[in-house]
Amino acid sequence: MSLLSKKMQPLVENNSAIRAMFEEGKRLASIYGAENVYDFSLGNPNVPAPKEVKEAIISVVEEENSNVLHGYMSNAGFEDVRNAIAQSLNQRFQTTFSYNNILMTVGAASGLNIVLKTILNPGEEVVTFAPYFLEYGNYVNNYDGKLVVISPNPPSFLPKLEELKEKVTEKTKAIIINSPHNPTGVIYSEEIIRQLASILEEKEKQYGHSILLISDEPYRELVYDNVQVPFVTKYYKNAVVVYSYSKSLSLPGERIGYIVIPDELEQSQALIPAMAIANRVLGCVNAPSLMQKVIGRCVNVNVDIGFYERNRNELYNHLISCGFDCAKPEGAFYLFVKSPIEDEREFCRLAKEENILIVPGSSFACPGYVRIAYCVSYEMIKSSLPAFKRLAEKCNIN
Ligand code: PLP
Repeated sequence: MSLLSKKMQPLVENNSAIRAMFEEGKRLASIYGAENVYDFSLGNPNVPAPKEVKEAIISVVEEENSNVLHGYMSNAGFEDVRNAIAQSLNQRFQTTFSYNNILMTVGAASGLNIVLKTILNPGEEVVTFAPYFLEYGNYVNNYDGKLVVISPNPPSFLPKLEELKEKVTEKTKAIIINSPHNPTGVIYSEEIIRQLASILEEKEKQYGHSILLISDEPYRELVYDNVQVPFVTKYYKNAVVVYSYSKSLSLPGERIGYIVIPDELEQSQALIPAMAIANRVLGCVNAPSLMQKVIGRCVNVNVDIGFYERNRNELYNHLISCGFDCAKPEGAFYLFVKSPIEDEREFCRLAKEENILIVPGSSFACPGYVRIAYCVSYEMIKSSLPAFKRLAEKCNIN
């Protein structure tokens, strides 16, 4: 009998593919020099955390009572921090949250797991739209739920609402949306959120139970050209928001985020404490205390989006001029480019010959496309441009 569980075995096998990509990057760098390898594979922010974060780390350590700062606390997190977040949301989105509606988490990954752990019974379904962050499948599987995937909608990549109507069944417990979106950079407009909400309300009536809308929002602040990201709890009462500071403050390693659980949510009086318990029994216990306090002092601070905007404009304009087919992203830091040849994995292989590392769309349940993460230095963007030109020529597209 293997010590490795049946659930873990496929995860270990898949992980070796990601690991292989990472190793390949290192191998190419050792041959050609790191400056000649263009690694666009990871969504790891390169923009430094704002100076306010460093200042807050120092002042929190100097000013807070050390036993409180480093001690255990309520599983939901420090009340003063949750209150600061609630007030900031209320100001920005005209909501009426209190600290009680905010649960501090170990990033969005943990937030999603807390929500799914709290609501899912084995066999219940969670619907999402392809392309999607593939971890959703693993998270749903953690609680023996089933992920139901709605097919991609190129070239706009807006959600296919007709297919949603077909795929929401009596087994549907929740749907996960992600806007601004990884990997396409699409933002769902107010109109789309309204349509989505009205379909879910209809389905709730039809099946006689609540359907939770989970809005996964690590990229909320990474928005260009003043596009608005609607706050979903204002449009649908059975909604929760899963937020993260990984991208908005460039703190992915610090593992800090929160869930918004509104009072309007059906059974909120049971769900609010239940999610705090889920945080505990999943083993996180509480979000990192130092980082909570830092966030409490940085609730209205964001990274300088100008860095990503410059990268987006430079790379997007170049790719279009080379003949590649791709929509201009409205948010996040990814370009989702149509593969000029049918098999996008082969296209990624050709890109690698030019020392360009990009991720096949099949890693997001959307073959035929590739993801380019432009959260890299501007210098890397600039020096990669001739390599993209050669790649275009190799694929005969210009
Ligand atoms: N959801 C999406 C769509 C993501 O792209 C990511 C990370 O890249 C996460 C969730 C997880 O973010 P966190 O670092 O907050 O766990």
